[in-house]
Amino acid sequence: MAVSRRTGRVDDVPDLVSRARDGSPRAVARLISLVENDSPALREVAAALAPFGGHAQVVGLTGSPGVGKSTSTSVLVTTLREQGKRVGVLAVDPSSPFSGGALLGDRVRMQDHATDEGVFIRSMASRGQLGGLSAAVPQALRVLDAAACDVVLVETVGVGQAEVEIASLADTTLLVVAPGFGDGIQAAKAGIIEIADVFVVNKADRDGADQVVRDLRYMQSLGGRHSEAGSWRAPIVRTVAARSEGVDDVVAAIEKHRSWMDEHGELDRRRQVRAAAEIEAIALGTVRRKFGHVHGSAALDEAAARVVAGDADPYSAADELVASL
Ligand code: GDP
Repeated sequence: MAVSRRTGRVDDVPDLVSRARDGSPRAVARLISLVENDSPALREVAAALAPFGGHAQVVGLTGSPGVGKSTSTSVLVTTLREQGKRVGVLAVDPSSPFSGGALLGDRVRMQDHATDEGVFIRSMASRGQLGGLSAAVPQALRVLDAAACDVVLVETVGVGQAEVEIASLADTTLLVVAPGFGDGIQAAKAGIIEIADVFVVNKADRDGADQVVRDLRYMQSLGGRHSEAGSWRAPIVRTVAARSEGVDDVVAAIEKHRSWMDEHGELDRRRQVRAAAEIEAIALGTVRRKFGHVHGSAALDEAAARVVAGDADPYSAADELVASL
């Protein structure tokens, strides 16, 4: 049993997890709330979820605002559902402090799926949260994974640096681009070309789509990584998401990437890197909190005074602080 600090509500975590595994949307939503709000039940939830992970393929969608990410997400959900897959959607807004249903309620395109029991949709905001995206999103992914989702789509809403961060959470990263966004050049600058596993050239109904494809091909040819034997060469898929055209090809590319990763041990490698980053972030968070709680600023002030006076150097002062935690 875990009692919520804010509401006094009592959660039976093992029961929630078992209902989530059976596909209860309410249990999934509650578990995500628990991990998202850093509740006292967080550790219990994490421990209860641990045995049930590793099934879902996490697919990140990244790209500039307006290229058609949310339209693409919605039509991808439709196609995956037609294949009988259970699907999770996390819409992450790094620029907003508001989590929960409200934000997605505004996103009309997702309402097509609102009554489908095989789809879990959740929006998460991270501005102002301790640890931000890096803390809450991986835990929400664990919930959706344990809830037997076959695919979890992670979409960034709004703007921000989070694009690369999202990619680091995904097994497969789709970079969505569109004519008229100067994306080729922007993407190259941000180093995003390198993290894309599939390029989606959306709005292929518009002039300039061919040029975008050519730009991407050219930029791909510049990167040496993809020319090595056995390496993955990110396919370029054209879509008109607004008319559901080309979506089957995107799903096929996602599946192909999954097979390639399985074959080359890449899925395990990516997940290992991700878990290491996650553990490190949690451990550093714990250290930071202990610093605050155990020492307060007094110990730090005292150490600072010694450094200012020339009685200690900052490295040995820091070592002493860390050793005393
Ligand atoms: P996001 O900001 O990347 O999530 O982009 P949205 O999915 O909200 O799409 C932005 C706009 O582009 C909306 O008005 C869509 O209707 C429109 N749009 C999406 N896909 C297509 C497409 O394939 N062709 C055209 N012409 N418009 C599209």
